[in-house]
Amino acid sequence: MPTIFKRIIDREIPADIVYEDELCLALRDIAPQAPTHVLVIPKKEIASIDALADEDAALVGRLWTVIRDLARQLGVAETGYRVVVNNGLDGGQTVDHLHFHLLAGRPMRWPPG
Ligand code: 5GP
Repeated sequence: MPTIFKRIIDREIPADIVYEDELCLALRDIAPQAPTHVLVIPKKEIASIDALADEDAALVGRLWTVIRDLARQLGVAETGYRVVVNNGLDGGQTVDHLHFHLLAGRPMRWPPG
């Protein structure tokens, strides 16, 4: 059973896609938790951080530079932002396809809930 993100990658269901390249996709979260809430996902089906293979290291590095560039393009790099990756049950992960939350547009609190 493909995840919701795999179905978005395959264009089976619509999404507000703000960036795409051969390795990844960035889309606006359907239930935004901040004025800017974008999900950056690899096209490769990786369930979570815990499911990463050693050979995925370069891909993950690339995702971080995409996040850096997206934050600039979305105009939030100067004011700041938070990047969150939930892993597993206690981490609050609900979709089993690796994704980075890029959250911005309001001050973030610490500790996170
Ligand atoms: P997680 O809880 O796994 O860290 O994050 C999953 C995120 O995916 C949630 O923030 C949720 O709002 C978002 N999400 C779930 N289904 C969809 C969808 O169909 N479209 C979009 N754009 N986001 C979704």
